[in-house]
Amino acid sequence: MPLASGDRLPTIRSVNILNADLHCHSVVSDGTLEPEALAARAHANGVDLWALTDHDEIGGQHRARTAALQLGMAYLTGTEVSVTFAGTTVHIVGLGFDADDPVMKKGLYDTRHGREARAREMSEGLERVGIPGAYEGALKYVGDPGLISRTHFARHLVATGVCADTSEVFRRFLVEGRPGYVPHRWATLGDAVRWISGAGGMAVIAHPGRYKFTPNEEYALFSEFKAHGGRGVEVVTGSHSSSDFRKYADTALEFELLASRGSDFHSPDESHVDLGTLPPLPAKLSPVWEALSDRVHRP
Ligand code: AMP
Ligand code: MN
Ligand code: MN
Ligand code: MN
Repeated sequence: MPLASGDRLPTIRSVNILNADLHCHSVVSDGTLEPEALAARAHANGVDLWALTDHDEIGGQHRARTAALQLGMAYLTGTEVSVTFAGTTVHIVGLGFDADDPVMKKGLYDTRHGREARAREMSEGLERVGIPGAYEGALKYVGDPGLISRTHFARHLVATGVCADTSEVFRRFLVEGRPGYVPHRWATLGDAVRWISGAGGMAVIAHPGRYKFTPNEEYALFSEFKAHGGRGVEVVTGSHSSSDFRKYADTALEFELLASRGSDFHSPDESHVDLGTLPPLPAKLSPVWEALSDRVHRP
């Protein structure tokens, strides 16, 4: 059901089955495909409305939008901002913002800053357990050195035979308490939400089922997010089980949040959920794309 220019959006029930995929990564952050290849893959998989959401970076937005529109696929600008909340890293997806907004651009720049120093420290930690040269190794997988992430270290450790796959690397080396883990202070929740909203976009809590919060902490995340002006939550994401779909559908209703859907696709070799292949949003929820209808770039 492509969103053609001038179309009125269909009624709620049918709008929920629109194949929207509003979360994925390109080589601009820690994905392995170029924005154009992701656009082609999304289109081939039947995606009607797409957003590229690289971590803390919007350098791929122009290419992604151009490729999408050429394929006849509607597009929303996107990013995924790293935030520190209650001592934990939380991700906030921004959708439909103005990619030229100077405050947003500066905020993302400041958030990215520090990744390189963190990566060098991660490398020192790995060296202490007998894995030398991990920084240089990880750099081989990086599109932009300013965006070096744990994922790039994971790819290097798999390629050099230290681990069988990236989830083993994370488990053994890259999570809290492990030798390659370096704590980092990202953006604040309030700043991230304000940058996105101030640039005309919508802030969405990414994959809430992934955070290891107590019920009280999770309640605090959702209520503070709302108080700062956040409006959406990912309910159907590649990071959620079907019981998470049900749980966060209820949370969306409880907090009166709009619901989003996105695969969080990174790579054909690593991601178990492909672009555009998740189940639709539950019919009782209001999708983020309805409220973002006038921010959609239409072919
Ligand atoms: P960073 O922003 O450098 O902390 O890296 C975070 C990225 O690592 C996430 O966006 C995921 O792509 C990836 N990641 C986090 N946890 C895991 C995991 N357990 N297995 C595979 N990839 C993971
Ligand atoms: Mn990632
Ligand atoms: Mn994420
Ligand atoms: Mn992501």
